[in-house]
Amino acid sequence: MAKFPPEQVVFNKPKVELHVHLDGAIRVQTILDVAKRRGIHLPSKTAEDMKQKIILHKPGTLTSFLEKFKEYMPVIAGDREAIKRVAFEFVEDKAKEGVVYVEVRYSPHLLANTKVDPIQWNQKEGDLSPDEVVRLVNEGLSEGERAFNIKARSILCCMRHMPNWSMDVVELCKKYRHDGVVAIDLAGDESLNCKAYPDHRRAYEEAVRCGIHRTVHAGEVGPATVVREAVEVLKAERIGHGYSTLEDHTLYKQLLDQNMHFETCPVSSKFTGACNSDFGEHPIIKFMQDKANYSLNTDDPLIFNSTLQLDYNVAHKYMGFTESEFKRLNIRSAESSFLPEKEKEELLSRLYEAYGMIQSTAF
Ligand code: ZN
Repeated sequence: MAKFPPEQVVFNKPKVELHVHLDGAIRVQTILDVAKRRGIHLPSKTAEDMKQKIILHKPGTLTSFLEKFKEYMPVIAGDREAIKRVAFEFVEDKAKEGVVYVEVRYSPHLLANTKVDPIQWNQKEGDLSPDEVVRLVNEGLSEGERAFNIKARSILCCMRHMPNWSMDVVELCKKYRHDGVVAIDLAGDESLNCKAYPDHRRAYEEAVRCGIHRTVHAGEVGPATVVREAVEVLKAERIGHGYSTLEDHTLYKQLLDQNMHFETCPVSSKFTGACNSDFGEHPIIKFMQDKANYSLNTDDPLIFNSTLQLDYNVAHKYMGFTESEFKRLNIRSAESSFLPEKEKEELLSRLYEAYGMIQSTAF
């Protein structure tokens, strides 16, 4: 991390975050505490040791990044107390970063369904259902909201390699749409397209039919065709990352005209190898220059040993972002949030006031 700027505060104002994974935003100490309580043996005894094992130390591939989850997911998955605690602590951490509204995403299936054999580290069917996971996360987020005075909503993820979960996910979105869940997402290996896996398409059709908001991870490491599929087939309203959109000029122009929102994650894209590791060459710079609609997000701060502040610092120091661009992108993020209109208006008023702006200011 030596090349990153120190954690000076470049934008010490209320922020909106739209793309962060709950299971990539867990405190290391919590993993150690839960492992101890459950009698799960971990190779690391101290938080510092564990942190060194989990974090990505240098830019790698998406595969090396995904391997990191195996270090700790078996500790948290399937444990009621742990899941609620992780959700609550997440809200506290975001409040400390100056976030006033966050949409946090996770796969209910990945946090359910597994029990760990402490000797063998084998995962086997557990008794915690994806439905109960959603309820526990909702409870943790709501308690966090009350304790830390920020707003937190959730997005449920389908996984590209597990198409048989997708209809479950959309049903959970429908069931909990008035209890904190605001949208559906599709995450995972972008080479698995929706022609080959029609269940994802069916789940998104159901989401459209029921008025469930939709975002899709696309164009992170995959080509622009994955973005096109997300927009045209899955009817995505926002794109997770979307960097490769720039490779298809027609599509990029079309998405700019449609005011499509890109959920960008600068630090993440360096460590996963999604983008050139030189921040000065990052696609986000083009988004900024074109006044595109995008947000700045952490994605998986545990694994990148990062905070939202680090993403802002990187954007400021290496990409030429100014205070007024930070304000503009946060207002665009609030407008592109999946909150109901009335709550969106309240959030926007809060930002305009904090930024010392009049609501009608055009960018
Ligand atoms: Zn993501």
